[in-house]
Amino acid sequence: MKLRLLLGDQLNYNHSWFTTVDANVIYFMAEMRQETDYVTHHIQKIVAFFKSMRNFSEHLQKQGHHVIYYSLDHPKNKQSLTDNLAQLIKENQVKHFEYQLPDEYRLDQQLQKFCNSIKISSSVCDTEHFLTNRTDLAHFFEGKKQYTMEFFYRYMRKRFHIMMVNDKDPEGGKWNFDHNNRNKWKGAHLIPIKKDFFTNVTPIENLVKENNIKTIGSVDSKNFTWPTNRKECLETLDYFCKNLLIHFGDYQDAMHTNEYYLFHSNLSFALNTKQLHPKEVVDKAIHYWRKNKDIITISQIEGFVRQIIGWREYMRGIYWLKMPNYAQLNELANHNPLPDFYWTGTTKMNCLKHCITQSLKTGYAHHIQRLMITGNYALLTQTHPDQVDQWYLGIYNDAIEWVEITNTRGMSQFADGGVVATKPYISSGSYINKMSNYCKGCHYKVSQKTTENACPFNSLYWNFLDEKRLFLNKNQRMSMMYRLLDKMDSETLVAHKKRAQHIIANPNDY
Ligand SMILES: Cc1cc2nc3c(=O)[nH]c(=O)nc-3n(C[C@H](O)[C@H](O)[C@H](O)COP(=O)(O)OP(=O)(O)OC[C@H]3O[C@@H](n4cnc5c(N)ncnc54)[C@H](O)[C@@H]3O)c2cc1C
Ligand code: SF4
Repeated sequence: MKLRLLLGDQLNYNHSWFTTVDANVIYFMAEMRQETDYVTHHIQKIVAFFKSMRNFSEHLQKQGHHVIYYSLDHPKNKQSLTDNLAQLIKENQVKHFEYQLPDEYRLDQQLQKFCNSIKISSSVCDTEHFLTNRTDLAHFFEGKKQYTMEFFYRYMRKRFHIMMVNDKDPEGGKWNFDHNNRNKWKGAHLIPIKKDFFTNVTPIENLVKENNIKTIGSVDSKNFTWPTNRKECLETLDYFCKNLLIHFGDYQDAMHTNEYYLFHSNLSFALNTKQLHPKEVVDKAIHYWRKNKDIITISQIEGFVRQIIGWREYMRGIYWLKMPNYAQLNELANHNPLPDFYWTGTTKMNCLKHCITQSLKTGYAHHIQRLMITGNYALLTQTHPDQVDQWYLGIYNDAIEWVEITNTRGMSQFADGGVVATKPYISSGSYINKMSNYCKGCHYKVSQKTTENACPFNSLYWNFLDEKRLFLNKNQRMSMMYRLLDKMDSETLVAHKKRAQHIIANPNDY
């Protein structure tokens, strides 16, 4: 017998493993405490993963494959991946063990160690999901000092002939239309309501609760919106192409109290669990755009393609290039704890209240909410990146370490000292006011600087620049901000610093 392992994020319906049914192959999938407990997850994340795994296992069984599936409460489930595997090898006289390359360093290490410890032969193969392999990015940037995403993205466009007019020129005459993507949402267009999947997740929700798994957030079984099988994932992609692509780029950076998703695709869970392939996603969106060029401009599709073949593949390459050291980086020497309100949403700062409450309710926030609200505040208050990582890894349904840590520790917290981002993504309240309607309903006044009612982001911003001068003042992209700081009169700076320090010491009072 041959034993093949399928991890919870390896639900690739089109993997070559499944092209033939072989009676000598056992597929193994398991819901395990090892995976529910390594960080405190959002309850919707656990439920969506388990439901997707169950659907995938049923699909394989219907095709005639032999699947052993351990639910969380299966009597034989030892709750540890390697203990389960060792038991199965013994029970089924397994002669060969096979697995697909895990995307997380911790699982990669665990499985390598396991294979070295067993007496039978073993082999590992690709998940056939990503466009690049683990080391392509490292080869691309070999000998370079900076890992500029834009150059990697252009290479990806050329390599996969995506939106190219010939082998070297980008369609539309430009590689990047990002400067068009800066609109504030004022309700100018109708966003059609997405069809409900009517997924009954109550049995899994109860299982999680009965087993006392510590979770965050809430789940509403009657309103569960995550796609958990191939058909639903394809429907989500279809819905995006037909209804959202038209303004994807325009409102990519916008935030609004009434709209959680705006024109974002909500495809990251389907992609990260491998139920959708990145190439099929961009191919379908491009095909839709080509048929509707009269109403969908190139900046919408280019922005979307860049996220998937650019940022997503880039982050994965950086992860495998820099791990395991990446997980320890704290280049800005930040050591403050994450405020309690990140777990409750109870704060008078309206932007944070909305983004955190939405995340607890849905397991979702879009990129700018993660980067410029929760990430921005954590960085300005000089929070330890370990604590920031733990929060992001737990709260979002799409959070798997390879893409979470590079975005959080790298892009958002600048804890890698500039591997991913060329400068820290920080802002005072004025950017938030420009891109959202949060400030309108806030207890604080965005236009005020240091008064009792002034927006906390304002003082935190200048205090951060002042305190991190040693780390940042050689960064060309920060020079304008440092010139402004240098021009600030000392009285104002002292007032900013006093207020910032009070906020940092008493975050839950704000
Ligand atoms: C602090 C922080 C933490 C993040 N953590 C995660 C995470 O754990 N998992 C995750 O998948 N993404 C993460 N992101 C990236 C991004 O925010 C999400 O991919 C996106 O919000 C998912 O929503 P969507 O599917 O509607 O994306 P859309 O805006 O519709 O974008 C389309 C797709 O592009 C990809 N994409 C977009 N931006 C990025 C990016 N920066 N890196 C990698 N892929 C990207 C995603 O697959 C996404 O589904 C994080 C970003 C920040 C700033
Ligand atoms: S005023 Fe400041 S704290 Fe309030 S919503 Fe605006 S940016 Fe956030």
